[in-house]
This record gives sequence, C-alpha cells and structure tokens, in this order.
Amino acid sequence: MAHRIALIPGDGIGLEVTPEGVRCLEALARRPGLDFEFTEFPYSCEYYAKHGVMMPEGAIDELSGFDKILLGAVGYPGVPDHVSLWGLLIPLRREFQQCVNLRPVRLLRGLTSPLRNRGPEDIDFIVVRENNEGEYSEIGGRLYDGLPEGMAIQSTVITRKGSERVLDFAFRLAQSRPARHLSSATKSNGIKHTMPFWDECVADVGRRYPDVTWDQFHIDILAANFVTHPDWFDVVVGSNLFGDILSDLGPAIAGGIGVAPSANINPTGELPSMFEPVHGSAPDIAGKGIANPIAMLWTVVMMLEDLSEQQAADDLMGAIEAVTGEGRVLTGDLGGSASTREFTDAVLAHLNG
Ligand code: ATP
Ligand code: MG
Repeated sequence: MAHRIALIPGDGIGLEVTPEGVRCLEALARRPGLDFEFTEFPYSCEYYAKHGVMMPEGAIDELSGFDKILLGAVGYPGVPDHVSLWGLLIPLRREFQQCVNLRPVRLLRGLTSPLRNRGPEDIDFIVVRENNEGEYSEIGGRLYDGLPEGMAIQSTVITRKGSERVLDFAFRLAQSRPARHLSSATKSNGIKHTMPFWDECVADVGRRYPDVTWDQFHIDILAANFVTHPDWFDVVVGSNLFGDILSDLGPAIAGGIGVAPSANINPTGELPSMFEPVHGSAPDIAGKGIANPIAMLWTVVMMLEDLSEQQAADDLMGAIEAVTGEGRVLTGDLGGSASTREFTDAVLAHLNG
C-alpha cells in the first residue's frame, strides 16, 4: 500500500525545497514495493493573506487521515511570527500529540564545522526535545502593569506522563544506537521544583533500560560541552526550553541551518508525525532557486525511517553524503555555486546510478 503523505510546502524557500524532497521520494518509488501518494495543501502566509487564517476549519481533521506530514516552512515578512506559529505549527504539534522533537546533529562528510579540528567522527548525536509542555505554557500573567510593582509570572508544567513518554522515546532511541548513551539536560540546582521532578523521571525511566548508560548535566555546562566535547554525546534529551536551545546550538556546530533536519514525532503512531527542516522560509534568498535542499532531503530520510523504509532511508542518506563528500556540487551557503535543483540532481544521479 502506498504511504499517504500530506505536503505543506508553505512559504518562501519551503516552496522550493519541498518539491526536491518529493523528487527524491518519487525516484525511490520506482523500486518495487515502495509507493507514495502525495496530497498538497496550500496552508501558508499567502493563504492567511487571502483567508485570514493559516489553515481552514477542518484542516486538522483532514490531515489526521494521512500517514505523515511533510512541511516546508511557514512564515513571511508582513505576517507576524505568532500567526504562523499559533495558526499552524503549534496546533499541528499539539493536536497530533507530536510530543517528541528530534534533531540529528551529524557533520556530513565533506562539510566543515565551525569548531576547529572537529570532523565527522566527532559530531554525531541527536537532540530529543519535549515538544508539548514544559516551560512553554500559557499559564501565568502580569500584575500591576506599568507600575513600579509590576511583575510577570510564568509557570512551567512538567507532568510525569509527558516526561516519561519523551524519555521513553529517548532511551529507546539510545538503545538502538551503537553507543547506547543518553545525556539529560537539567538545572535542578537553580530550578527547585520542576527540574528535580524531571530528574526523577529520568532516573525512573532509565531503570527500565539497564543497557543504556546515562548521565545528566546542568544546561549551562551542557551547552558549553556541545562546543568543547561534542564527541561525548549520543542521545541528548531535554525539556521544551532546554531542548529548544540545544536543538539550535547542535545544528550550528554541524554545518548550519541549510543542512539541519527535524521531526515532530507522535510516538504512538496513531496520529501523523510531521517532518520539517529546521530552517524557516528564508525570505532573503526565496525565489532565487539557491536554497540548500539538504535540510529537506535529510528530513525526508527521517520520514522514511519513521515509515520503516530503512533501506530507502539509508540509500537517500548515502546519496546525499556521497555528493557532500565529493564537494563539487554544493549550494552557496556551503561555499559552492550550485542551485537547489542542481544539488538534488547530483543526489538523484547517485541514487539512480
Ligand atoms: P523563520 O522566522 O521563518 O524561522 P528566520 O529568519 O528565523 O525565519 P531562516 O528563514 O531559517 O530563519 O533564515 C535564517 C538565515 O539562514 C537566512 O539568512 C537564510 O537565508 C539562511 N537559510 C535558511 N535556510 C537556508 C537554506 N536551506 N539554504 C541556504 N540558506 C538558508
Ligand atoms: Mg526562525
């Protein structure tokens, strides 16, 4: 049966890189036993300009019938960030209970890290971010606004259920990797209630995975260690805020935003997971055909893995890395002069060759 994929190319370079991901999937679908059925949705800031909403009523229902969602990028100048965030990204992540955000951090062959003397053997880990609760809650408010007594209070919500499902995912992921090592981000020396609770959940879940070695670091030193000892890390798990910070720092040491993939996973598989490059719509380069498609193609690799199409995933990743390893066809952000399409053409040549 064909995998049913909902495509939301979105805005800016999302419209340019999503078709490149589809081209790779179509090339893979020439193999017997692998097939995809694509349905495209125009939800975007352009849609918002016309209809006053990022997506119509009923969109969530309709999307819930798909196996996976592949998203380009949403956001464009003139439309405030909170519109695209609260009008599309957050409702999708929440409604589909995509409580795990995954960001692989691996330096691809041929690419250079801004960290001196660090190569692909040193930078290969994956950041697992809690995606549904934590510090990003709507609970809180302001008091005595405009007065000298003014103050703001923001509550963090960490539940055992929410923590255990993301931790369970992270430990299982660690178990599947050769190093079988997990590091948890905490700050229980300064944050007195929620973080010790998180630590307890880590210890409890950790006991179920005796074959995984785990450690924990305060977020400040953990961030520093990404820079000084990236080779220490294998699977790194953090709350919503800590995971957010680490999942931007990670890609920054591994070739930048043009190559960084991500996945929003519903671990039960009952509702669709959503796959999107880390980058945004990049209005400064949109429409020129020069965006780096690696982030999208690697995102497609993650989607294939989640569909249990491991062979196709490995082949596509292998083709991407063959091209970066040769170093002849690269986009501008990586010091080359190839177009978005030319890079994908090179990947397809490897894939088909
Ligand atoms: P958003 O608010 O949508 O997240 P942003 O401005 O925060 O947008 P990006 O759109 O990701 O962030 O762009 C940040 C910078 O990185 C821009 O200069 C952009 O051109 C560059 N960039 C982002 N993605 C790519 C890509 N795929 N290839 C090349 N450059 C990129
Ligand atoms: Mg951004």
